[in-house]
Order: sequence, then C-alpha cells, then structure tokens
Amino acid sequence: MEFRLQGKRRLKAELHRGLQGNPTMEILRMSQRYDVVIAGLGAMGSSAAYHLARSGLKILGLDRFAPPHNQGSSHGQTRIIREAYWEHPLYVPLVRRAYDYWAELERESGRTLFRRTGGLMIGMPDEELIAGTLKSISEHQIAHEVIGVEEINRRYPAITISNEKAIGVLEHRAGILFPEICIEAHLDLARRHGAELLFDEPVTGWEIEGEGIRVSTSKSEYSAGRLLISAGAWASGLMHNLSLPLAVERQVLLWFKPAGNPALFRPEKFPIFLWGYKPGHMIYGFPDLGEGLKIAFHHNGQTVTPESINRSVSPQEVESHRAILRQFLPEANGDLLNSAVCMYTNTPDEHFLIDFHPESDRVLIASPCSGHGFKFSSVIGGILCDLLTEGESSFDLSPFRLDRPGLS
Ligand SMILES: Cc1cc2nc3c(=O)[nH]c(=O)nc-3n(C[C@H](O)[C@H](O)[C@H](O)COP(=O)(O)OP(=O)(O)OC[C@H]3O[C@@H](n4cnc5c(N)ncnc54)[C@H](O)[C@@H]3O)c2cc1C
Repeated sequence: MEFRLQGKRRLKAELHRGLQGNPTMEILRMSQRYDVVIAGLGAMGSSAAYHLARSGLKILGLDRFAPPHNQGSSHGQTRIIREAYWEHPLYVPLVRRAYDYWAELERESGRTLFRRTGGLMIGMPDEELIAGTLKSISEHQIAHEVIGVEEINRRYPAITISNEKAIGVLEHRAGILFPEICIEAHLDLARRHGAELLFDEPVTGWEIEGEGIRVSTSKSEYSAGRLLISAGAWASGLMHNLSLPLAVERQVLLWFKPAGNPALFRPEKFPIFLWGYKPGHMIYGFPDLGEGLKIAFHHNGQTVTPESINRSVSPQEVESHRAILRQFLPEANGDLLNSAVCMYTNTPDEHFLIDFHPESDRVLIASPCSGHGFKFSSVIGGILCDLLTEGESSFDLSPFRLDRPGLS
C-alpha cells in the first residue's frame, strides 16, 4: 500500500515536472517516443486514446484488428445505457458522468451516439433485477415509475406478462448507445488530437525498461512512459505472471423481424428492456431501429477463449430465443434477420478491473467489464487518463482493484 501511494505521488510529480519543461523529463521524453502506449482500441482503449491525446500527451494506440470490428466485445449495433443500476448503486455516479461525456463526444464529433427510449425492467419484486434497480433508485433519487402488469400491457401492447405478481420499473432517461459509432468517434478525435493509431498490429509483450516500458508487437518495438492494457477478452495474455480468475463467455445476439404490427416495436413505442424471466435469469432487448428487434440472454453462454470461440449461431440457439419471444413478445417472432457472437470477460464478482499492474505503476489494466462496461467507456477513458497522468481519480475505484477479495 505504501509502495502504491509512493508510486502514485512519484508518477504525478514526474509528469508534472515534465509538463513544466523539466530538462531531465524532456530528455527522457525524447528517448521514449511515446508518453503512453495503448494495447487495445475497443470501447475502453479508444476512449482513453481520446482523453489522453486531448490532454496533449504523445499517444500510440495499437490494435490486433481494425476497430471498430466484430471480433471482440463491442459490436452488434446497440448497447443499453441506464442509470437505475441493478448491479450496484456504486455505478450510478459513474454512469451519470458517462452520460455527460457521451453528450460532449456527440457535440465534438457531430455524430449521433445515443438514442433515448426509456428503459423497462420487469420481474418479481424480490429478485435481483427489480430489488437492485429500486435500491439504486432510492440511494440516488433516480426519476422512475413502478407499474403493474396491466399498465405494462396497456403502455406496451407488444409485451405479454403472464405472472401478475411481476412489476415493471420504468426509467425515462435510459436508451441506446451505438457502440461502433462511439468507438469510431473516439478514435477519429484521438487522431485529430494527435494520437498515432496502428491497426492489425497486436501487442505481443512488454517489459520494464529503465524508467519506462518497452512494448513489443507483431511488427516492431516501441518505448513509452506508460502502458495501458485494454485488450478486452485478450487481456489475460498481456498480464505477465499475474494469474486472474477471468472467464471469457460466449454471447449470442439475434435480430427478428416483427411478425405482427411493426409499429409496436419502434423506439417511439418500445423501450429497451430487461426481463427476469425466471430466478437468476435475464433476457434483454432493443426496439426495432429498422433492422429488427434485437434480443439476447444475459450470461448464459459457454466459457471460451477468443481464439477458440465458435462464431456461428446454431438452430438450437435460435429456437431458445424464439421460445422466449413466444412467451413474452409473441408478435416479434418473425423471420430471423441477423445474428452475431460476442464476448463478455467476467470477473467472479462481475465488477470491473481498473488498477495498476503489481509489477509496475507504469502499467495500467482496464479490463474486464463483465458484460456491462460499454455505457461507462466514455467516463472510464477519462478515469484512465487521470490515473496515467495524475496517478489518481476522483472516483472511488476500490471495488475495481486487483487486490479485492476473490480476484487476487
Ligand atoms: C453481447 C454483448 C452485449 C453487451 N451489452 C451491453 C450493454 O447493453 N450495455 C453495456 O454497457 N455493456 C454491454 N456489454 C459489455 C460491453 O460491450 C463491454 O464491457 C465492452 O465493450 C468491453 O470493452 P473493451 O474495450 O474491454 O473490449 P473490446 O471493445 O473488445 O476491445 C478490446 C480491443 O483490444 C484489441 N486487442 C486484443 N488483444 C490485443 C493485443 N494483444 N494487442 C492490441 N490490441 C489487442 C481487440 O482487437 C479489441 O479491439 C455487452 C457485451 C456483449 C459481448
């Protein structure tokens, strides 16, 4: 702990001196080509690249593919953003800041990144989804409505709930982020602020070299003052001898053409939703934005590796989604329009991992996000920038540390 604090103070003081034109730091900078190298430019890395480049640092971003791409955790056209956070109230201040950053990014990039639809959580009052949502609401005074089954069916005629004891919690601010466009916006602006971004060049290793880090890739070697590991499902391969209980989970996404009245599924009439369809099980979905209604189970995939994952969707998987549609959204059960396979990278407690590597406070890890990280990526990029430049963040990151119970 003492080492950690000393490390943070040193980091902050060092960069501060450097920014004020300290000659030692200038020499150090000239011999180290980059202030920060970023390994992985998906949701987290692209946002960090933007924040770091905007703050005037010399940034090199590297990716094994050409983001935005469909090989990692950030594809599939849409991601939910919501404030009444059933997972834990600690995420509410983070998501509030994330909303601000997304709005700022929309203004700066001139692109549409977010669509408000409202969000409907449906389930039994004593189950995790509803009880957790209401806990966040009461701790953080989030605007919402609680509605019964009859009212759900009245407002959203496409939805059929047979269990009369279920309730709905409606959050008006929730909506949809467009992940590929968000990543593209972060990367475009990072470039505009001077970041160098190299694609199809995986980082293969790193080592501490004097006061900096030497980063090896499939094509070259680079020197940097700091390294950010934001490699998503591949992060374990860059952790050196740090062995963490991370599980990569295969997730299937399906788009269906509404068989009944398509107007019922349009975003003006139909919110993003999560439904706790049986204890411990959830399914979520998005309105039809023109390419069909998208639905997916939350956490019922096989544990895989990014190298061995099966990227095709089986007829059995389609059928298990149709079984849910028949019960819950019968008019949505039309032709299958599209499918995709994506990866969650889970910690045992499903909280994030944001911390310095135990070998060096020059190496920062920002992964895995356990299937709920995208909405936060705008603010996490800002946090990573603060950690890499100041050594600290104004947010309480203790739940995301490496040395928390169950992770180390
Ligand atoms: C199906 C699905 C649905 C989801 N729904 C939601 C949702 O509704 N709301 C929400 O908030 N979150 C959601 N999430 C979670 C969210 O999308 C992820 O938490 C987030 O996208 C993870 O971002 P990342 O930057 O860690 O990973 P990625 O975006 O995958 O980025 C990692 C990057 O690292 C690159 N890389 C890998 N190895 C290397 C290397 N060695 N060198 C260089 N580059 C490398 C990869 O090519 C990739 O571009 C969902 C996830 C999935 C899979």
